[in-house]
Amino acid sequence: MKKRLFTPGPTPVPEQVMLRMAQPMIHHRNPEFMEILTRVHEDLKYLFQTKQPVLVLTCSGTGGVEATMVSMFSPGDKVIAVNGGKFGERWVDMARKYTGNCVELKVEWGTSIQPDDIIAALKQHPDAKGVYFTHSETSTGTATDVRAMAKAIREHSDALICVDGITAVGAHELRFDEWGIDVCVTGSQKGLMMPPGLALVALSERAIKAIETAKLPSYYLSLKKALKSYKDNDTPFTPAVSLIIGLDESLQMIKAEGIENVWKRHQRLSAACRTGCEALGMRLFSNSPSFAVTPVWLPEGVEWKAFNKVLKLENGITVAAGQDAYAGKIFRISHLGFYDELDMLAVIGALEMTLKKINHPFEVGSGVSAVMKAFLEESVAV
Ligand SMILES: *Cc1c(COP(=O)(O)O)cnc(C)c1O
Repeated sequence: MKKRLFTPGPTPVPEQVMLRMAQPMIHHRNPEFMEILTRVHEDLKYLFQTKQPVLVLTCSGTGGVEATMVSMFSPGDKVIAVNGGKFGERWVDMARKYTGNCVELKVEWGTSIQPDDIIAALKQHPDAKGVYFTHSETSTGTATDVRAMAKAIREHSDALICVDGITAVGAHELRFDEWGIDVCVTGSQKGLMMPPGLALVALSERAIKAIETAKLPSYYLSLKKALKSYKDNDTPFTPAVSLIIGLDESLQMIKAEGIENVWKRHQRLSAACRTGCEALGMRLFSNSPSFAVTPVWLPEGVEWKAFNKVLKLENGITVAAGQDAYAGKIFRISHLGFYDELDMLAVIGALEMTLKKINHPFEVGSGVSAVMKAFLEESVAV
């Protein structure tokens, strides 16, 4: 059986990326690798739409966010962190551990924070040194308007604007410089079509200035060290050589498609996925849908374990489960990274076969037909 991965990290890895990573090992201090890392550094600027440094760290996305916290702040610094799901919750927890002074802004799961909410918080906490929020909250499939948030924060505060872009980079429009963001982090196993193991961290001049004076201790995750090496297109420690070579390949793919086309593709596929699910009578979870992942409520009377078993064992499809209070109530379909129209037909088709198998009543073909129509109407319109 052909296995198909529809989870929001890890995501499918294209063959050409895997083949590049299968080449004989090279040493990270030789010119051949330096040339690759130099190109990766340049192409990452294109990905984030920035002229400022984007660091490549050997760790997962969480390590990238942790690096920003330990490198930019001092003990006692007030950090506002938005908690609208599992990942937002993680940044609250992390800020509490590191600076010991975190203001948590709770947002209901499935909804996104609004600029007015952050403005109110900043008025109450004018001494905030940083604001952390998530562009695409993967646990709830919810997108936040980063442009509006960044504008609101900058108009009311000097706090560093720190974006968890881990499932947003490569899926949602992101203009790091133009929107005035200070920090944006992603991970290799999400929109970049790579295995897990790298974090990419974009930094503004303001962020770099904060790094120069920050007092929290750090060693492996020190961005001060990483920035020093970055100037010579080098890394302070042995990097994940093979992953960086793979990243060189996936960035070439993104460049060839064009970043704006990549964003549009994610928008189109996510819209079709939502249409297909709704046509099958499933309710959508988020009121501000992410282009990376679509969470849907399991239909009334459908038991998650039985549903997932048929989906996985008989159709080869892996989707993501609901988390925390929504475990067993929702599931999440990813369309982040290496996906196209036919992938959406495959996943919606598999949902239909699964629902049929477990005797859930619906009109066979209605989901696939809705997805196909969505794509066809669009191509006719173009
Ligand atoms: C996956 C994810 C993370 C965590 O990244 P790891 O690579 O698992 O450490 C953080 N934030 C969001 C929004 C994510 O989707």
